[in-house]
Amino acid sequence: MANEYDVVVIGAGTGGYVAAIRAAQLGLKVAVVEKQKALGGTCLLWGCIPTKALLEHAHALKIVQHAKEWGISIGDAAAAINMPQVHDRKDKIVAGLTKGVEFLFKKNKIDWIKGTARLAGNGNVDVFNGDTQTLHARKDIIVATGSSPRGVPGIDIDHTRIITSDEAIHLKEVPKSIVIMGSGAVGVEFASIFHRFGSRVIVVELLPRLVPVEDEAISAELEKSFRKRGITCYTGAKVTGAKATVDGVDVQIQVGDGNTQALNVSYLLVATGRGPVTAGLNAEGVGLQMDRGYIKVDAEYRTSVPGISAIGDVITLGTPGHPQLAHVASAEGIIAAERIAGLETRPLNYDHVPGCTYCDPEIGSVGLTEREASEHGYDVRVGTFPFGVLGRAKMAGETEGFVKIVSDKATDAILGIHMIGARSTELVAEATVAVRLESTVDELIRTIHAHPTMAEAVGEAAHATHGAAIHI
Ligand SMILES: Cc1cc2nc3c(=O)[nH]c(=O)nc-3n(C[C@H](O)[C@H](O)[C@H](O)COP(=O)(O)OP(=O)(O)OC[C@H]3O[C@@H](n4cnc5c(N)ncnc54)[C@H](O)[C@@H]3O)c2cc1C
Repeated sequence: MANEYDVVVIGAGTGGYVAAIRAAQLGLKVAVVEKQKALGGTCLLWGCIPTKALLEHAHALKIVQHAKEWGISIGDAAAAINMPQVHDRKDKIVAGLTKGVEFLFKKNKIDWIKGTARLAGNGNVDVFNGDTQTLHARKDIIVATGSSPRGVPGIDIDHTRIITSDEAIHLKEVPKSIVIMGSGAVGVEFASIFHRFGSRVIVVELLPRLVPVEDEAISAELEKSFRKRGITCYTGAKVTGAKATVDGVDVQIQVGDGNTQALNVSYLLVATGRGPVTAGLNAEGVGLQMDRGYIKVDAEYRTSVPGISAIGDVITLGTPGHPQLAHVASAEGIIAAERIAGLETRPLNYDHVPGCTYCDPEIGSVGLTEREASEHGYDVRVGTFPFGVLGRAKMAGETEGFVKIVSDKATDAILGIHMIGARSTELVAEATVAVRLESTVDELIRTIHAHPTMAEAVGEAAHATHGAAIHI
């Protein structure tokens, strides 16, 4: 039968398309249903890739703004960003990558079925795209429908002045001013982008500190850096009202001391998190167990219905805090595909998931924070080393931040590594291997770190944990 496959994947985000490729590599006949005009999902179209492209533009502007210091002559005109050109370059990068996924589908003989999928029971998936067709999955259906921005009660997102990251990524102008609600990764990344581009930026965070999932020392360093460069940060504060006007938004903010501030800004960006996408999927209709809108799965991504799996942003493993990250969705996709193909799999260790926040300065972290380690009952020993004393940091003009190692004094085991500063999102790779391999601080000390690199801070933080940093 033409519409019969081993595996039907719903959604071509970083979870779905990676699962599809792995399943095809293992000899399965695979179809992917995707309703967007391009493959790649949130990550490629509205998330990781376009935001990081904008951040690279912000970094380029930062260098040009300091041209004199770098000995580069560009005349006396103030450096400014050209938004049409910025979008042009970003869109080319996105288009190149989505075409890359299309190429990989062809290479692996995966059928892209264009349209919106609905679970129809008994291994069937109905696809709507003008007409309706039904696909049948002999082995498994993988639901990878992802997430979308979540609103906040009392704030009407009009997608014009009161916006989400989906609109922020396409803003044709540099906002004169913007309030950013929420200081998770999305919030602080846009704060870094728009502030560098020239906007007045006000970040409002409900919890007592920025990037609340990070180690407290990282939050404090980011807030210090943001404040130094003129980004207003209200923590322990909340947006209590917002009304879009013709050319802006009237925003009420209840600040920490209980007082209310009224601001008129060009935009309000609601960056308070993302919720699962299951509308129209008929998930409950076919018997999937759900939890607060998320699809419940086991450690190998089986749902409550045999023959239906789910991965990525749309799932919950029953414990709070399933990370909504592209690399997590991909890793889950690979495990699901291998299990469906009959391979032995090992469950992911979610304590070993690296987190990267591409704000300026960047944040990279893996494993337990100092507070979490104490709460787990460890006799915590910490070592910190500042980037600022490193030759490489001075050359790059990127001297902010530090690396912090959290370890268990009794066994010397590394429990977590947290860093803030330039290139932390790259340096976290070493930290992830160290945590994944359950390394000790001593093993990290004995690992030679090349010179001159920012990675020397990781080695030195290990020395510092044993009270023996060389360069401080
Ligand atoms: C601004 C922003 C920045 C981000 N930056 C990072 C980052 O730097 N690093 C990182 O790791 N993560 C980042 N993320 C998160 C990352 O994008 C997501 O975790 C990841 O995309 C999740 O992948 P997924 O496959 O689960 O879902 P998605 O990527 O959301 O893909 C789901 C796909 O399913 C399709 N779909 C949904 N329903 C149907 C249906 N019924 N029929 C057919 N198709 C359907 C959608 O169109 C979509 O293409 C960012 C997110 C945002 C919003």
